[in-house]
Amino acid sequence: MFLLFLSAEIFAQGVAKVSVDTLSTSDKYVKIVIFSDRTWDSLVLPKPKHVNSEMYDIDWITTDHNAHRNFDIATLPDTIVLPLIEDSTDFCIPRVGFVYSKYGWRHGRAHTGSDIPLNIGDPVYSAFEGKVRYTGYCGGYGNLVVVRHANGLETYYGHLSKILVRENEPVDVGEVIGLGGSTGRSTGPHLHFETRYKGFPFDPETIVNWKDTTLRCDTLVLPRNKLNSTARYSSSSSSSSSTSTVETGEGTWHIIRQGDTLSALARKYGTSVSRICSLNNNLTPNTVLQLGRKVRVR
Ligand SMILES: [Zn+2]
Repeated sequence: MFLLFLSAEIFAQGVAKVSVDTLSTSDKYVKIVIFSDRTWDSLVLPKPKHVNSEMYDIDWITTDHNAHRNFDIATLPDTIVLPLIEDSTDFCIPRVGFVYSKYGWRHGRAHTGSDIPLNIGDPVYSAFEGKVRYTGYCGGYGNLVVVRHANGLETYYGHLSKILVRENEPVDVGEVIGLGGSTGRSTGPHLHFETRYKGFPFDPETIVNWKDTTLRCDTLVLPRNKLNSTARYSSSSSSSSSTSTVETGEGTWHIIRQGDTLSALARKYGTSVSRICSLNNNLTPNTVLQLGRKVRVR
């Protein structure tokens, strides 16, 4: 696809040149093309069609995973209608798999997404095209990417081992936004996938059919009362109080509990034992971890 586009570009310029290499730039929509005669040119790739939606201006906050904390749910209509896709190519299943933990109540707390098993390092795809609104380590979510879409819908991708996109960056449908992992409050590698509108989660299976990897509907028609306005998972501060993770302006700290090991912490926080040791005084891979000790993990 890219090569076809490239050759069309060169043909349009009427220049008989042969490209020998392309280089990435800090803007992923601009490539540098090197030609066989040692000249080069910049090439501007087409951006996704929804990049200029007004939804990217309303409550656009990149420092908080929830950009709508002060939004009054009562101001929404009784039924929310959102166009999702024009055709099937506008949707990509974020990770093929079965939902082993569903949206709903779990151990007395709201589980605000669908959990899909994966292997650490598996690619995780953006469900729709959109714009990255939030990336970062966030309490129970671990490494989290939040993508806003042109219709105002937001999708969340949690527990990632690696984040591969940056805030304010446009993403295509099916673009790899990160690699699967087990960071945050997670008992094993999986994707925690959420769908939210105005900051309120609703069951992703309302729209996503994980069994046949398709979208259930072209247009979402959602009664307002299907939005969870009290989700506890939605607040990074409440989730950190129930785990031993403490986030400060100076990194993320973990309070040692029974059974913690440095290698388990490294896996949980998507880092390495040597990196954790380098962040802490008097800590080596062989140090006996005292219960209650605060260890800086990121
Ligand atoms: Zn989950």
